[in-house]
Amino acid sequence: MTKVKDIFSKDGSLSNLIDDYQHRTEQEDMAHKIFSTISKGKNLVCEAGTGTGKTIAYLVPALLSKQKVIISTGTRHLQDQLYQKDLPLAIEAVASVVTTMVLKGRSNYLCLHHMETLIHNTKDLNYQNMSDLQEVVQWSSSTKTGDINELVMIEENSVIRSKITSTIENCLGQSCPSFNDCFVFKNRKAALESDLVITNHHLLLSDMSLREKGFGEVLPMADVIIFDEAHQLPELASTYFSQTISSRQLLELITDIKIADREEAGDMQQLEGALAKFEKEIRDVRLVFSREDKRLNWLEVWENSLLSVELTKMMISFQIVLDILENVSQRGKLLDNCWQRGKAQYNFIDVYIETNKEESIRWIEIRGHHLYLNHTPVNISETFQKRLNEYNAISIFTSATLAINDDFNYYSRQLGLEECQTHVWNSPFDYQKQTCLYVPLDLPDPNQFKYFDAFIERTIKLLSYSQGHAFILFTSHQALKKSANILSKKIKYPILIQGQTPRSELLNQFRDTEHAVLLGTSSFWEGVDVKGEALSLVVIDKLPFASPDDPVLQARLNHYSKKGMNPFMDYQVPQAAIGLKQGVGRLIRDVTDRGVCVICDKRVVTKVYGKRIIRALPPMPMTHVLDDVRIFFN
Ligand code: SF4
Repeated sequence: MTKVKDIFSKDGSLSNLIDDYQHRTEQEDMAHKIFSTISKGKNLVCEAGTGTGKTIAYLVPALLSKQKVIISTGTRHLQDQLYQKDLPLAIEAVASVVTTMVLKGRSNYLCLHHMETLIHNTKDLNYQNMSDLQEVVQWSSSTKTGDINELVMIEENSVIRSKITSTIENCLGQSCPSFNDCFVFKNRKAALESDLVITNHHLLLSDMSLREKGFGEVLPMADVIIFDEAHQLPELASTYFSQTISSRQLLELITDIKIADREEAGDMQQLEGALAKFEKEIRDVRLVFSREDKRLNWLEVWENSLLSVELTKMMISFQIVLDILENVSQRGKLLDNCWQRGKAQYNFIDVYIETNKEESIRWIEIRGHHLYLNHTPVNISETFQKRLNEYNAISIFTSATLAINDDFNYYSRQLGLEECQTHVWNSPFDYQKQTCLYVPLDLPDPNQFKYFDAFIERTIKLLSYSQGHAFILFTSHQALKKSANILSKKIKYPILIQGQTPRSELLNQFRDTEHAVLLGTSSFWEGVDVKGEALSLVVIDKLPFASPDDPVLQARLNHYSKKGMNPFMDYQVPQAAIGLKQGVGRLIRDVTDRGVCVICDKRVVTKVYGKRIIRALPPMPMTHVLDDVRIFFN
């Protein structure tokens, strides 16, 4: 029987498949540990530092185990990378015969029913939309998977993309005329029959919710579930275990009612007027709030604004629409679907207004033109455990950032994983030789008025030493915008700013542009891999503490206090440490990389908690002297 060491040793099968294969002790060790974890039927929470090669380190033992495996990762992009690059290599190394499948959420697959409906309702489409729709129709007859990622001939942001996919609410399921050819269900069926399925956390978490509610399942049962990029799980689980309704969903319902009316009735004058009134009142609820994005505590807003007046008016109009729909729902499947959906949404809002439970928080999010009513559990650990237990599988959680000084408590507590065994494999990179950490002590405290100008001035100096080749990572969009305005006038290097172009394109531009400087916020703090000289300097403006005004954070901190814990030291500091570790991790991606990391927040040195945060970072030699940075780059 093939063993882990036959694959990873210096002359093992991987060495025949990878040019310049370098044996990594940490990688082989991790593969052994995962193999024994699976063999013994235990659960594992483990951190593998950057450069360990963790993907192959878990894929190989997963294949060797001959068990049914689900691998869940952070994004669709990582899913594709795993499926197209790492998995074929691991399969070849193990010489394994397995059926594999990549499964994404329903919004990634063509919905034949919605495409057909759109073909018959083109009155709102412009010339470009029509041309995109033609491309879709042509592609639909040749695609095997229905994965809309294959639609490279239409723009990423084409409105047609959202019109040819389904949501859980508007899918007709088994009563759909296209059910037998449906890509969503065909892909799910193939996944049920596969030995190894690669999915993402979003789909897995929604599968957990479906199972719990008894609405069936999307993913197969498995013997082993491996969560990669597992640091993302607590935040994502909190979102998926929340219940939400948005003004966008209500407006979509109105659009679908109009289509259903045209297709299956067409004689309801009364409905048109009722829908127009309902639509106006949905928009009036949004207008209670100003334009900027924010997150607010429901109770505070409900008691102190026009929200209660506008929402009550909207609910009366909603009820009138539902009464009309009820009378005609038996005329067709589309009308019936709209009526059922509308009833569920109405009931949700009705209960939302009345429910006040200590274990959950009601909060409002204002994002763009829309408003979201959310109901989020304060503590997700019990729910996560309960839902995970439904799979009855061995669970392995891995990422480059789960522990703080080898301590997994903060992470494990959030997901109820305290009983799992844990392990850390440090990065094989030589941080003492490859890096330098610069923390300027002469900058003002980040909360002081003069901080921003001093930060900009210091950044300009640092960029002159590194000659661009830099990421400037911000903790807020506001700071990013303000800095982008000034830096674009004051430095000679090409500047790339988050939001100008899609993230992946911006990264390609960064790699291809000499001396580039990229300015980004949270989405660039993780999951970004730029090797070589192109990225030699990472500047971080502040410690990434979550906004203290955030209603969900406030509820969690209260929960920690009530349990007799220290909310700051037990929650906020570890959260910032993990975030900082992610940001710092962008710098060194290879054994030959060199670079300087700069944290423009002296609290990491001057405060007691700062020292705890610094100790969580890779072991970089630290300096407070600007000239040391110049010397490093010389
Ligand atoms: S079953 Fe649902 S997803 Fe499939 S084609 Fe019909 S409406 Fe679309």
